[in-house]
Amino acid sequence: MAKRNKRPSWDEYFLKVAMLVSERATCPRMHCGCVLVKDKQILATGYNGSIPGDDHCEDVGCMIVDNHCVRTIHAEINALLQCASHGVNTFGAKAYITNMPCTNCAKALIAAGTKEIIIFSEYHDTLAEKFFEKAKVKVKRIKMPEKEIDYDIDSFSSAKKILPAKSIKMKR
Ligand SMILES: [Zn+2]
Ligand SMILES: [Zn+2]
Repeated sequence: MAKRNKRPSWDEYFLKVAMLVSERATCPRMHCGCVLVKDKQILATGYNGSIPGDDHCEDVGCMIVDNHCVRTIHAEINALLQCASHGVNTFGAKAYITNMPCTNCAKALIAAGTKEIIIFSEYHDTLAEKFFEKAKVKVKRIKMPEKEIDYDIDSFSSAKKILPAKSIKMKR
């Protein structure tokens, strides 16, 4: 038997997914991931990135207005937009986010019916908590989950590796 990390709790699990989602972010000033969850099921995910088809900060530089980069759509908004474009009801959802939302994302999450925010880090400049408090949205802070993904293929007796000739190299 291979040694195994502790099985993650639901909160750790969804926050770890949010961390993974944030790997797709395109603004070097911030990598944020958001996972909207209802009844322990993922409704949608989002990361901060440009409008589809537009330039990325990491290629052409940030677009700074009042000391903020305004090029990207924030993770939380992208997750809500994914729900909008697929007709998914967000009322009563929980939002698992790598960090405390900015003021505008907080307002959007409240308006979309989010009832709880679960984060593991803060954001430098936000009135989110004030808005959440007034709207009675619960804010839960937990320890940052393990960064490592525990998938030890060599220890699984039922797993069979793909032969090198059949595997396709992953392209960035
Ligand atoms: Zn940027
Ligand atoms: Zn935001």
